[in-house]
Amino acid sequence: MSMLDSIEEPAPAALARSEDQSDNCHPMFRAVPSTVGFNKLRKRLLRNTRQAIDDFVMAGTKDGRNQRWLIGLSGGKDSYGLLALLLDLKWRGLLPVELIACNLDQGQPNFPKHILPEFLDRNGIAHRIEYRDTYSIITEKLPENSTYCSLCSRLRRGHLYRISREEECDALVLGHHREDILETFFMNFFHGGRLAAMPPKLLNDEGDVMVCRPLAYCAENDLAKFAEAMEFPIIPCDLCGSQDGLQRNVMKAMIGDMERRMPGRKDSMIRALANVRPSHLMDRELHDFAGLNEQVNIQAKEQS
Ligand code: SF4
Repeated sequence: MSMLDSIEEPAPAALARSEDQSDNCHPMFRAVPSTVGFNKLRKRLLRNTRQAIDDFVMAGTKDGRNQRWLIGLSGGKDSYGLLALLLDLKWRGLLPVELIACNLDQGQPNFPKHILPEFLDRNGIAHRIEYRDTYSIITEKLPENSTYCSLCSRLRRGHLYRISREEECDALVLGHHREDILETFFMNFFHGGRLAAMPPKLLNDEGDVMVCRPLAYCAENDLAKFAEAMEFPIIPCDLCGSQDGLQRNVMKAMIGDMERRMPGRKDSMIRALANVRPSHLMDRELHDFAGLNEQVNIQAKEQS
């Protein structure tokens, strides 16, 4: 039995929204719905998050001390979910990691600056809010009406790496989920000419910041329901007027359609990414096809 299996099921006659759990949970969970449905959802997300952390060896001690993680908090449903789930795991004693939430205010027009600091202060969460006007850089560099997201994400990532170093964090932790990984896989497959997805854990090019994605097994729909039930104060990511690549939306629709027609495909595809047979693909760098000729000669000699 895993430690998460010991999480108690809710009382049958629970109130719709409980206010009396202050001693038993992180402050963020004090007023969560006390319904069976929400508790099942929370437990499933916790189990999936814990599984990814274990499978990809994300947590641990370093030089005899607990790790420090910088959590990228954009104000979207996924990053709020990531923060809440990691705090929940830590509260339960299942994640011995120091957590710092970090929001990069990129200077998008009408960005509501007060929302995240108020939310984080109210819930007693260690955080750093950083203002860097990457929006002006993007609008100066790119022609009008172009899609900003790619450059915007790259600039944001660079700042998050820098802040991770400054905060002496062992990992930058991001809220990408199962669907993000699958969409990236199909983007690369259909448009990039390569088999590659979004890894649950990777080292940056400079080799000094680990990037982890503990929600790699979590379903986007679960995170959306969780965010709604938790009443996170969501900040939309399209304040800048840009829109994410159309191709990603096409992939999302395609994968969603597959799942509707053949339920379980998303889980199967995620399992496939962890079960690779280079000998049954066509990458000559990964598999020694030429060497098969030698092997057949050796085997033929042994049999004669
Ligand atoms: S929608 Fe705007 S803020 Fe969000 S990633 Fe794209 S360019 Fe950046």
